[in-house]
Amino acid sequence: MRTHSKVQGASFSRFGVNSNFPVNVILMQPTTSHETFIDRSDYVDFESTSKLRNWPICVGDKQYYVDSSIFSRNSDYFRILMGNSFFIEGAVRQLKILDESSKDILTLITAISPNSLGLYPDAIDERNVCTLLRLCDKYLMTNLKHNCIDFLREYRPNTQEPSEVFHLFYQLCFSLNAEYEHDPTLADAAVEAVGDTKNKLSKNLSCFQMFSCLAVLSDPMNIAEFHKFLLKLQRKSNDKDSENVKRVADSILHGGAIFRHRISFNEEVQGLGCHQCSMRPPVRQSRSKNRKPFVLSLCRSCNREVCVQCRRSLCSRLFEEWINELRS
Ligand SMILES: [Zn+2]
Ligand SMILES: [Zn+2]
Repeated sequence: MRTHSKVQGASFSRFGVNSNFPVNVILMQPTTSHETFIDRSDYVDFESTSKLRNWPICVGDKQYYVDSSIFSRNSDYFRILMGNSFFIEGAVRQLKILDESSKDILTLITAISPNSLGLYPDAIDERNVCTLLRLCDKYLMTNLKHNCIDFLREYRPNTQEPSEVFHLFYQLCFSLNAEYEHDPTLADAAVEAVGDTKNKLSKNLSCFQMFSCLAVLSDPMNIAEFHKFLLKLQRKSNDKDSENVKRVADSILHGGAIFRHRISFNEEVQGLGCHQCSMRPPVRQSRSKNRKPFVLSLCRSCNREVCVQCRRSLCSRLFEEWINELRS
């Protein structure tokens, strides 16, 4: 056990210590000597230069150093600017970005440049996917965009921590603007993910994913944990953020009441199924008078006939109205 504790003590070092080995093995990474790391961490310090990262990008009051070959390979925009001395950027070997925050640009840099241990770029996750998607369109980064779309398509909020699901939901609410509703790549991916073209939400992947995040977050099983996380988040955020967080959080906490289908009247329908879950009335076994009637209810908002179970679920139309108002 002594070796084990020794290994843990050194776990912040950048030498890939793996405590699963039966003996004390240290994997020396051959590339680390060419990288500059943030003090006592395994992550690259992009504010100082290294052997390969010698191209400065100025944004706000920060200056980051990147490997121009990585940027050229990933982006047509940067390839043309960096590789062409007709452009001032290519001639003086420096790039100024005036219309983005340093935080967002660093998110982009760490998603395509080796970061952890000087080897691995940051993974796409709930917190960075929307920023990346937006910047991919701006800087013509096709590969990264497809990876972001894959992340959204394969995302299953019911298997993730509510706090992370909230990050994605919140980002989707504000970071992606209306033009994404007509993005053909996102629309195709959505149809694939939902496998249901009748559902209005499936026309748009981000909208579909928001709806499934909301369903998970407003689940009574998750509300307590979500509430705890929310208090922590509100203590940290600034005024403008906290107002937005409050608006989004309120809708989640009252999700059941706000987004439930608006039922006008019940009707017994023969031979037709629920418009939401496609459940059909049971085949009649006998002519007994005691059989339970198969009741569908009409929602005034989305105009769909829904079964008893679906009555209590979220109405996609009400959700769409809410999101349009939030973004306007
Ligand atoms: Zn409805
Ligand atoms: Zn149903």
